[in-house]
Amino acid sequence: MIVLGEINLRFRCEVRSLGYRLDGSKDELHPRFPSDTEAKPFETQALQDFFQLGSFLGKEKDIADEGRLRFCNRWGPLWYEGETAAQFDGTFFQFHKAQNERKTAMIPNLNIEAVNIPFNLGELKWTYTSEGRLVPTIECHHLAHALMAVWSFSANDTLVDHQSCKFFKHYGTRKGCSKYFQKSRSNKEFCSPNCKNAFKQKPDWREKE
Ligand SMILES: [Zn+2]
Repeated sequence: MIVLGEINLRFRCEVRSLGYRLDGSKDELHPRFPSDTEAKPFETQALQDFFQLGSFLGKEKDIADEGRLRFCNRWGPLWYEGETAAQFDGTFFQFHKAQNERKTAMIPNLNIEAVNIPFNLGELKWTYTSEGRLVPTIECHHLAHALMAVWSFSANDTLVDHQSCKFFKHYGTRKGCSKYFQKSRSNKEFCSPNCKNAFKQKPDWREKE
């Protein structure tokens, strides 16, 4: 049985506001200066940026370092501060390998031996959304876990951020409502004009504005 549903992926990137540098013979990732960490929302763009690093493979070391730093300055460490180049690269290679396996219709296998942290999708819990709907939730404790979760859930889909239709958010399913639609820069709130009209026919819609 295949169930189409929604899963809430919970992870917040913790990023040093003044960025990172690479230190020592193992190129450990450390804050450039003592600085605060900023919590940033995790987005699927992180996975796109991560795979973009592929174009640095086989390039000069300083170009590879630059790519790694640019990624971490935007999204934070993959695992933790102090992670080495071997750990970062090992994680990247496993993702890359699994992605190639998926492209050639093999069962992908993600196995990160460079890092001594169990590599799974995280723990399944429950959370209520701000509109009061109960949603199964995967709580990720590392950026690499969150990347892996997004990568897994997007197996047969293009990687785009979606937002929920305002009708669905407040009133649940409705025939013809696609529930989710691709996020765009416009302030679109409904999946279709029909949902917008249906929303405004609800007696209490003004309270939900
Ligand atoms: Zn809708």
